[in-house]
Amino acid sequence: MTGPRTVLVLGGTTEGRAAAAELSARAGVRVISSLAGAVRSPRLPEGEVRLGGFGGAEGLARYLRAERVSAVLDATHPFAAVMTANAAAACARTGVPLVVVRRPGWTPAPGDRWHRVGSVAGAAAVLPRLLPAADGRVLLTIGRGGLGAFAGIDATCWIRAVDPPDPPLPRCHTLLLDRGPFTLDAERELLDRVRPHVLVTKDSGGDATAAKLVAARERGIAVVVVDRPAVPAGVRVAGTVREGLDLLL
Ligand code: NAP
Repeated sequence: MTGPRTVLVLGGTTEGRAAAAELSARAGVRVISSLAGAVRSPRLPEGEVRLGGFGGAEGLARYLRAERVSAVLDATHPFAAVMTANAAAACARTGVPLVVVRRPGWTPAPGDRWHRVGSVAGAAAVLPRLLPAADGRVLLTIGRGGLGAFAGIDATCWIRAVDPPDPPLPRCHTLLLDRGPFTLDAERELLDRVRPHVLVTKDSGGDATAAKLVAARERGIAVVVVDRPAVPAGVRVAGTVREGLDLLL
């Protein structure tokens, strides 16, 4: 007699929670959601949950074997590039099928003043030419990783993140501890209060944090958009959870 199919969902995102809910409702499927454990009080998905890193690709491969995982859905954030690379390597090593869910990135609309850069370091490098010579103001909405790149910036920064970030941080900064989804009215109010010359964001895609782009467009605020890292070559990619599960199961 065969047991249930075990699907590992690499999560920490809206898509991860949606996948867990969908799989939990299916007969003959055991779903395990994995979260990095980086957020103090994460939103938990339905079903079984494990927290914390696996110990690199090697550790994940061991985990896949130990839990007899039959398929992996990588629904991590588009910028969780290390986890996705590890999933690709571990699944290739163990022969476990893998699909990566990548929500589409954002696209600019008329009136947007976007500056696309390849990395968070690139975002920091482009800021001096977008800021006034004195009293520059920057709103950083890239989460709490990578903020060290802005440590040397000669500007006042506002940092929005779910949990307090670790140093190094910009010399002059104010923390805005908050978690999306953010409404357009709330984003308008924030931009009117902070009055940034530049908003910095990752190209996360999705609806939960897109309103800031509309509010910035309305106010003519420059936006530095960090491009997503590429998905490892040869890995199957789906645009939605439904498409990902159809490919995988
Ligand atoms: P990352 O840089 O790609 O991964 C760093 C390490 O964290 C990985 O090597 C792995 O440790 C561990 N890890 C990451 N995601 C994991 C998961 N779902 N389950 C178990 N271990 C995980 O990842 P990150 O950018 O720090 O993101 C961490 C988590 O936050 C992810 O679940 C992601 O979906 C979520 N998230 C990230 C962002 C973002 O902007 N990066 C935004 C929203 C949510 P081991 O090598 O020890 O296995």
